[in-house]
Amino acid sequence: MQNKVLMILCDGMRPDAVVKCGHPFAGKLMSTACYNPHAQTVFPSYTLPCHMSLFHSRTPDEHGVKTNVFVPGERKGLFEQLKDNGKSTAFFYSWGELKDLYSPYALCYGRFISETFLPSETVTEFLEEDCEKFLNEYNPDFAFLYLETTDSVGHTNGWGSDEYYKAANHSFMLIEKIMSNIPKDYSVIVLADHGGHDFTHGSNDPIDMTIPLFVKTDREIDFAEFENANIIDIAPTVCDIIGVPSSKEWKGKSLLK
Ligand SMILES: [Zn+2]
Repeated sequence: MQNKVLMILCDGMRPDAVVKCGHPFAGKLMSTACYNPHAQTVFPSYTLPCHMSLFHSRTPDEHGVKTNVFVPGERKGLFEQLKDNGKSTAFFYSWGELKDLYSPYALCYGRFISETFLPSETVTEFLEEDCEKFLNEYNPDFAFLYLETTDSVGHTNGWGSDEYYKAANHSFMLIEKIMSNIPKDYSVIVLADHGGHDFTHGSNDPIDMTIPLFVKTDREIDFAEFENANIIDIAPTVCDIIGVPSSKEWKGKSLLK
């Protein structure tokens, strides 16, 4: 049974990029995983509020982080819930603000490379490599891999530009690499935090609010829930796959049967 989870987040990846990026593995994943091209994120559709909702299963109104500036508060997120139930966690990321997604005690292994230092694609390649190695050697119950390139290229060249789809293509190259090389006991979730338009995001327009969601697992999906999935449903789903209860504070629901 696949009772471990690798979650891969492509920052700012719209569902149309899954189709238009032209990477064969994107097509393969659409047919071999459960795929919802119209899952929803939360408003405001900025990176930190969306990640807070992803890991804390509450809307920005409820968790209080509504911009990319962190606001301290008493919250129990996915990392704490897993650690408190004896599970191991790992986090691979390149945007410093994401450090506030976990309490230091709750993380077993963290790898951070600043997005400001190396080219974006190189950063994601290093993170993928490290994540792949760590999963094979240490088999943590949960790992989060953050791939930033689609967002940074969106802000520079525009969402929907040729460069943007090229960045999505590179992300799927890394997704194929890691999914082909990790132990078979991992379920894999691939999603985005938000979409984007022109050179920005943050609005409640469907183009910013709609995200792709893939779940590849041997567990039984509840397709009625899956069709209406929201980003706040992911933390409960991860707990369900791993076999720990959701936090009582959380508002989302598991997408498993
Ligand atoms: Zn952004």
